[in-house]
Amino acid sequence: MALSGIQIYKLLPQTNCKECGFPTCLAFAMKLAAKQVELDLCPYVEAEAKAQLAESAAPPMRLVTLKANGNEVAVGNETVLFRHEKRFVNLPGLFVRVKAGTAAGDISTLAGEIEKYTVDYVGMELGLDGFAVEANGDSAAFVGAIEAVRSASHKPLVLISTDPAIMAEGLRAVDGEAPLIYGANADNWEAMADLAKQHKAPLAIIASTIGELADLTEKVKGAGVDDLVLDPSPPDMTSALALNTQIWRLALKQNERSLGYPVIAFPGNASDVATETVLATQAIAKYAGFVVLDTFAPELAYPLLVLRQNIYTDPQKPIQVQPGIYEINDPGPEDPVLVTTNFSITYFSVANEVDGSGLPAWLLVADAEGMSVLTAWAAGKFDAERIAKGVKEYDVASKVTNKTIVLPGHVAVLSGELEEELPDWTVRVGPREAVDIPGFMKDVL
Ligand code: SF4
Repeated sequence: MALSGIQIYKLLPQTNCKECGFPTCLAFAMKLAAKQVELDLCPYVEAEAKAQLAESAAPPMRLVTLKANGNEVAVGNETVLFRHEKRFVNLPGLFVRVKAGTAAGDISTLAGEIEKYTVDYVGMELGLDGFAVEANGDSAAFVGAIEAVRSASHKPLVLISTDPAIMAEGLRAVDGEAPLIYGANADNWEAMADLAKQHKAPLAIIASTIGELADLTEKVKGAGVDDLVLDPSPPDMTSALALNTQIWRLALKQNERSLGYPVIAFPGNASDVATETVLATQAIAKYAGFVVLDTFAPELAYPLLVLRQNIYTDPQKPIQVQPGIYEINDPGPEDPVLVTTNFSITYFSVANEVDGSGLPAWLLVADAEGMSVLTAWAAGKFDAERIAKGVKEYDVASKVTNKTIVLPGHVAVLSGELEEELPDWTVRVGPREAVDIPGFMKDVL
């Protein structure tokens, strides 16, 4: 159970020595209760108090990590019901299911395509996370399917079988990895818990009600397995939404430790791709930790990856690109220097327009703390001084002889100050919208 600030204060040394950077132990306790600082900042907490505080500070949802050959998918550690309250922390893993009994060549071809599939989204490389290999009752076919995946990809795995003997064979085939073992139910949990302990792998718990899930997680935890994943086995879309939301709420708001684990969802169980897509969308939004698809197609994967990225982006931190001087269309010393900010969408809007025009230019991306042009200007983060600082820091003058610098039209007001900051440069005011940049470059520069 999370402790209040006063309860935490009672466990601190109460000497107000200030070494933690706060004026009093009470001030530090309040920050700890709000999870804004780490306990390690106080060097004087006694071991017993530390254990109590560490338990109360543990996130209400356990972090579960799948590992394979240096690749990891970490899910959980969430602390809020809604993204705007703080942020969601770990992106749900997107997996594609392959079934034992399918021709090995087909599996390895698919695995190879998924391995290679990456998309660039505002400067980030996005891709799928792994494979779920489902047994068909034949351990040799199960191992064959796992090996076929491994012949083309080393992404983490979910192994699917409720038969402990078949699961044991599958785990042997990926010895040294930590796949998700799916799964333990009321009939097999003891044997599955043994396998999870033996292979140090997380274990999925399968039940059809929240009460049964909670009972089973307690039993499996009692058997010594801590890393668990929950499958509430929803029969339809409405139940999936209701069950995932109830589990998330009970774990985060009621601190129900027996439900404090990520959930796995199987949208691929749907009868058609359209429904699979809708179910996957819902699972990403509310509140799956692992999402297992049956269909791989770029037109399905791309929107899911973008949706996931947007939901799991910290709303308080704009997506940024690295400030610096960027070359577009192989510019030379006679070409102009355009200026923009390091907000990703702003940068890509400008860069794409210039790139598409085929005209060469230098693009100076000023550090505006990830804000767009007007927002940064209004916040005092994008001014003549910062632009001039960028010109000097990235040694722009050594790259050009023309020395023409183009301000975004929205900050035309900065042109006078920039002339003072850069007296040997010609300052021009460009268009307000990125889409007008190619015309401006052709007709005005
Ligand atoms: Fe109190 Fe520890 Fe901070 Fe010192 S370092 S003021 S003892 S909380």
